[in-house]
Amino acid sequence: METYRVNNEGYYGEFGGAYIPEILHRCVEELRQAYLQVLDNADFQQEFNALLRDYVGRPSPLYLARRLSAKYGCRIYLKREDLNHTGAHKINNAIGQVLLARRMGKRRIIAETGAGQHGVATATVCALMGMECIVYMGKTDVERQHVNVERMKMLGAEVRPVTSGNMTLKDATNEAIRDWCCHPEDTYYVIGSTVGPHPYPDMVARLQSVISKEIRQQLLQHEGRDYPDYLMACVGGGSNAAGTIYHYLDDERVHIVLAEAGGKGIHSGLSAATIQLGRLGIIHGAKTLVMQDEDGQILDPYSISAGLDYPGIGPMHANLAAKKRATVLAINDDEAIRAAYELTRLEGIIPALESAHALGALEKMRFRPQDIVVLTVSGRGDKDIATYLANAPR
Ligand SMILES: *Cc1c(COP(=O)(O)O)cnc(C)c1O
Repeated sequence: METYRVNNEGYYGEFGGAYIPEILHRCVEELRQAYLQVLDNADFQQEFNALLRDYVGRPSPLYLARRLSAKYGCRIYLKREDLNHTGAHKINNAIGQVLLARRMGKRRIIAETGAGQHGVATATVCALMGMECIVYMGKTDVERQHVNVERMKMLGAEVRPVTSGNMTLKDATNEAIRDWCCHPEDTYYVIGSTVGPHPYPDMVARLQSVISKEIRQQLLQHEGRDYPDYLMACVGGGSNAAGTIYHYLDDERVHIVLAEAGGKGIHSGLSAATIQLGRLGIIHGAKTLVMQDEDGQILDPYSISAGLDYPGIGPMHANLAAKKRATVLAINDDEAIRAAYELTRLEGIIPALESAHALGALEKMRFRPQDIVVLTVSGRGDKDIATYLANAPR
């Protein structure tokens, strides 16, 4: 049977692997040898699960959205990652990786961040565990996302503005990698999504898989069966989607729908729809789909949502798309905004702009009345209120 899980070499089909400079080999190899052992360890599991329960507030509810369901003619459950501590799913991964770092004897945590959400999640966990935390962030992003910068500083992290390139996520990533090269002994590099060299995509997917583990149990309670007909999630790098689908990857009864950011339209030149626009290339140490020009230069992505504005995509998701295991839809800025207002008015839930892309995919689907749909609301919209107000649909 076809499997969509990672193989021993770190590949999903033709995607994945570890394309890294020689100087990083030792660091990545050390991580590769440690991660499964630690993640499967009963003591780690116990500590991780206790923090997910008592600190994050898991399990997150699986909520039957009745008014939204009536609108789309099926049974729509929302997986409420927006209710987690710090307001999104990223905390699940940050806790897991910082616990792993501690078990590997590392005391210095580094991360890179674009919108600041992963930086805040990492800084939060470092405060909790009394670890040193350095966050690399492009200078342009530091200026655009100053509230998150202030949050990280209040949490005790050092934010290092990066002034190379066009001073955004890609440049912050290069700087974080450079730091890791210089301090391999004591430093752990926390990546925030299912991207980067193997073993990161698999590790992040495993840490986020608590989402689908809960969906299975919660659906069984609500519906008397432990699988849905459809799973829907937005994709930036792919971590909330990977967590949502993890336990159903090889269960073909379950349709997977991924929503990427169309921006102003996939052919407008202002888009982040990597699965539809990307070609095979290397980004952030992995072979995957990359938005690039004829010469292989990485193109600047655009989305109204800072968390989906990434020119690559996790290798797991590139493979799901290539094998047609997943349906991929590009949702444009205006469609996401409309969907966010719709959820707000029908259910009293203001979603993150990223999550609004998953909601925007609903109107492009055809459901039967008996279909059970689980859609992950990856985060809450408090951070996006100014954007929502400035772009309110008429
Ligand atoms: C970062 C972020 C995303 C996108 O990242 P994935 O790794 O694709 O999940 C989506 N939603 C929210 C709320 C985020 O903060």
